[in-house]
Amino acid sequence: MFYILVSLILFGILILVAISVSFNKKETSEEPNPVLHQSGIYSIVRKTPRDQLRDVKPSTEEIRKYLEKINVNNNDLGNNNLATSEIDTYVREWHEALDRNIELIEQGDSDGISFYYYDFKPDYCEVCAGYLKRGQFVTREEIYQHPHIIPPFHIGCTCTLVAHHGETLQETTEIGMVPLFKNEIAPRLPEWRMFQQTNAVRGIV
Ligand SMILES: [Zn+2]
Repeated sequence: MFYILVSLILFGILILVAISVSFNKKETSEEPNPVLHQSGIYSIVRKTPRDQLRDVKPSTEEIRKYLEKINVNNNDLGNNNLATSEIDTYVREWHEALDRNIELIEQGDSDGISFYYYDFKPDYCEVCAGYLKRGQFVTREEIYQHPHIIPPFHIGCTCTLVAHHGETLQETTEIGMVPLFKNEIAPRLPEWRMFQQTNAVRGIV
């Protein structure tokens, strides 16, 4: 009799557990869907790239740590490390260049810009020379899909985006511009550690 009673109690507990498990399952499956950000193509492409860039570009700390470690001026027998003021300049230039491009895209979004092309200011970038040419263009959609194509690409990079104000690309192709993407494949771009000493830091300008 005792065993039957114990078995019944255990059976009852099992049923209660089963009910609570299925109840929980039901609860979780009824969670609302995550809010969809994109309701149409324009809301997809017209979103500031600022947040996306935080994931694909190095942080101030990463850049600073890297610059503190590297040796420059290999022929110099003296101190081969960058001075703190030089590191400060590189970090400041990096953020200024990044902000300029972000603001250009934000402004372009309010102006309805669909195409951007690459240029180099003030000088041609020797590191970028092996990767992309002045005048190669990208669409706003490509920028949204691949935010890492927003310059600067590396420390000391002079590459910048320029908004293309034409209605269509016809005008662009006429002046010899070619797309950066080939068959929708993102091109290889310089790695951010590809350090280039800028004129400002070398004291030339
Ligand atoms: Zn560059």
